[in-house]
Amino acid sequence: MRSLRDIDIAYVKGIGPKRARLLTEELGISSAYDLVYNFPTHYIDRSSVVGISDFQGDNMPSVQTRGRFLSFTEQGEGAKSRLVGLFSDGSGTMDVVWFRRTREIRKAYRVGTEYVLFGQPRQFNRRWSMVHPEIDLPQAITASVGLRGVYPLTEALRRSGVSTRNFMTWSAAALTAVGDVPEVLPPGIVAKHNLMSLKDALWQMHCPDNLGMLERARERMKYEELFFLQLNIQRYSRKRTPGLQGLRFPRIGQIFNNFYNTCLPFELTGAQKRVIKEIRRDMDSGRQMNRLLQGDVGSGKTLVALMSMLIALDNGTQACMMAPTEILAGQHYVTLRSLAAKAGVSVALLTGSTPAKGRDEIHRRLLDGSLDIIVGTHALIEDSVQFRRLGLAVIDEQHRFGVVQRARLWKKNSDIPPHVLVMTATPIPRTLAMTVYGDLDVSVIDELPPGRKPVQTLLRFDQQRAQVYRALGSELAKGRQAYIVYPLIEENEKLEMRSLEEGFEIIKDTFPHYRVAMVHGRMKPSEKDWQMQIFASGQARILVATTVIEVGVNVPNATVMIIENAERFGLSQLHQLRGRVGRGGDQSYCILMSKYKIAKETRRRLEIMTSTTDGFVVAEADLKMRGPGDIEGTMQSGIAFDLHVASLVADGRIVEMTRRDVEQILDNDPALCRPENRTISSEMALRDARRPKGYSLIS
Ligand code: ADP
Ligand code: MG
Repeated sequence: MRSLRDIDIAYVKGIGPKRARLLTEELGISSAYDLVYNFPTHYIDRSSVVGISDFQGDNMPSVQTRGRFLSFTEQGEGAKSRLVGLFSDGSGTMDVVWFRRTREIRKAYRVGTEYVLFGQPRQFNRRWSMVHPEIDLPQAITASVGLRGVYPLTEALRRSGVSTRNFMTWSAAALTAVGDVPEVLPPGIVAKHNLMSLKDALWQMHCPDNLGMLERARERMKYEELFFLQLNIQRYSRKRTPGLQGLRFPRIGQIFNNFYNTCLPFELTGAQKRVIKEIRRDMDSGRQMNRLLQGDVGSGKTLVALMSMLIALDNGTQACMMAPTEILAGQHYVTLRSLAAKAGVSVALLTGSTPAKGRDEIHRRLLDGSLDIIVGTHALIEDSVQFRRLGLAVIDEQHRFGVVQRARLWKKNSDIPPHVLVMTATPIPRTLAMTVYGDLDVSVIDELPPGRKPVQTLLRFDQQRAQVYRALGSELAKGRQAYIVYPLIEENEKLEMRSLEEGFEIIKDTFPHYRVAMVHGRMKPSEKDWQMQIFASGQARILVATTVIEVGVNVPNATVMIIENAERFGLSQLHQLRGRVGRGGDQSYCILMSKYKIAKETRRRLEIMTSTTDGFVVAEADLKMRGPGDIEGTMQSGIAFDLHVASLVADGRIVEMTRRDVEQILDNDPALCRPENRTISSEMALRDARRPKGYSLIS
């Protein structure tokens, strides 16, 4: 019997070699398997009809509308020639436009006859139009009751006349051709959760009988997708766990205790204490620690990192902390040095701009062991940086580092790799963290230091700038500091520099009594450092910057964050920026400046910011709005996932189910070699073969 994977789409009824090539190029669909796993993005009720007068918005979904053609006219010449039908449904009129097969179409449809059109309305010059819609007689619609899938189409597919209905027909043809589709999930699982069979589910996904059946089909496909994702992650993490021997740190010694008892500037929060315990346990387990430390901005991760490093020192090893930018590395250096100096610990900074002489000195002291802690940027992973014994590597804001770069840290010791602590402020919902970082242990600091007042976030429009500056003035008069951030305009550096520099001038003019610093990405590192330094020390009261300050900068006296063109920022970026203020005991403000006229979607994003300061809520909202498809890019988790039906956010319940089921299966049969697991094992291999590779040992 042939399987879906063996059938080339060119041989699926109705496709043919030319379209097959296009489908492969545009959507990566080359086998019948790809075709039937290409699901509709949503479904419309075939009985629902939308009136033309109710069309609205920039990006309307495809809809059905019912009415009559009033006329047909040929317009334009040559390549631009088209057939335009004026279509009315009684509530309004729109243009229906065809660029190809116009003669055929002109013959097929008549003025005055009632039709049902299905297509995506678009607006040009305030007129609605539909390009190459699907057209049916009303009888045809009522005969085929129920729901109808809408498939993703690309412009090239549309232009070549492929409609979303084609996908439904082709999928049905492919399913008919193979006849049976064997189950890929273990029979026990299917029975336990009363899941729909794979064959039925595939049919229902493309040609649903009714909403109830479709829901069951979707549940089944989501389960399947998440099941194989879990299987992949868990099998991988089990492989890693027992294998790697780690340095053993049994001692809590003088350095740690001395710091804890005499140098700690404040009481640790409960969450900080808990996390330090977790880290301590890891580092004395005999296995290498790979732990993700997750905590919202301002939750005090730096201190946890430092205390973990002190444990490493107490056990006769050194530690390093790596940050993604020079500014951040510099900040960490200053913080760690001032904290650690009292405990008699030596700290140095190494970045790309450390002069050769200082660099040599650092190399030497790392090698002979007289330097305890080194803070730096990528410069740390250079092969010339050698330790006497590296015990712990802390990596801040890990998503900025490439997978390969991180892996190089492992090789710093020739025999046993250092423990690794990855810190991130990207608040990942817990279900997601478990899934994404299945191979890392996750610690969460879920408590802010006491006495923090939530940052007040306000949305202000450009017309209200004078008022915003007055408020800023009164904060400055109280001795506070402020950030003013401009967006990176990637496609237009000149424009970006201009808005930044103009802003800088305006601020200097408006607040002539205060010193204003400025940093941006194209400055020389030494200049950047200088500017940051005069701000951090309080000499400059205002810092005008691009998003280079987004992560990690810590100036507790800063209480105002003004974000210009806030509509250009993503939610998680806005949250990161907001986290730069509210780090002391004073009330802080985050002011989002935007144009008055913004898209609905954008306004929603900004309103989420004004309604909550909880990083997890922001992250969930962000995921919902962007879809988890983006996660892969932003997190570089190393586990490639490729979800089509399931959502890690919305389907937390199914994520949990699959996690437990997979755990049980692997507990009983770690290598998946029992007969009952042979199917999932080979299915996993087949799915794996299609995934981009790129696992790292760290994340
Ligand atoms: P992040 O988690 O964003 O890296 P930081 O480590 O920079 O946070 O800490 C933010 C601020 O909170 C710093 O000024 C730090 O000194 C302070 N802080 C950290 N832990 C505590 C605590 N337990 N009590 C009070 N303040 C703290
Ligand atoms: Mg930090």
